[in-house]
Amino acid sequence: MGELANCVRCDTVYVKTTRNICADCYQKEEQAFHKVYAFLRVRQNRQATLSEIVDATEVKETLITKFIKERRLHVKNFPNLGYSCENCNTQITSGKLCDNCINKLKDDLSTFEQMEERKLNQELTAEKKVNTYYAIDKHGK
Ligand SMILES: [Zn+2]
Ligand SMILES: [Zn+2]
Repeated sequence: MGELANCVRCDTVYVKTTRNICADCYQKEEQAFHKVYAFLRVRQNRQATLSEIVDATEVKETLITKFIKERRLHVKNFPNLGYSCENCNTQITSGKLCDNCINKLKDDLSTFEQMEERKLNQELTAEKKVNTYYAIDKHGK
């Protein structure tokens, strides 16, 4: 018996595989992928944007985004095939965030690290002071 899991798409209990969706949903996604792919193979559709593909194929935008993220749809071949950054509305073609948001996140992170370091230094200095007092006391006797 394999391990059981809930399909992330339809919540059906299924025997866990390398995929996080059940066989039914997998088949539906494959059909959707072929639909999108067939649409994009037509030369005049190569410049299509995400919403144009959604209109033409009736495949959900989130699913098409998933295909792009899985790199099943090669953005290089379809220049207008982008999706929104999770933090702002900039169109991106890989990952979850646009370059701007990634840089901002890095800045925030280093600010946080600097704050932590300063706090640690202050604690160390305070500890040193205590030790110095003890030293003076010892000499005093
Ligand atoms: Zn399912
Ligand atoms: Zn962004």
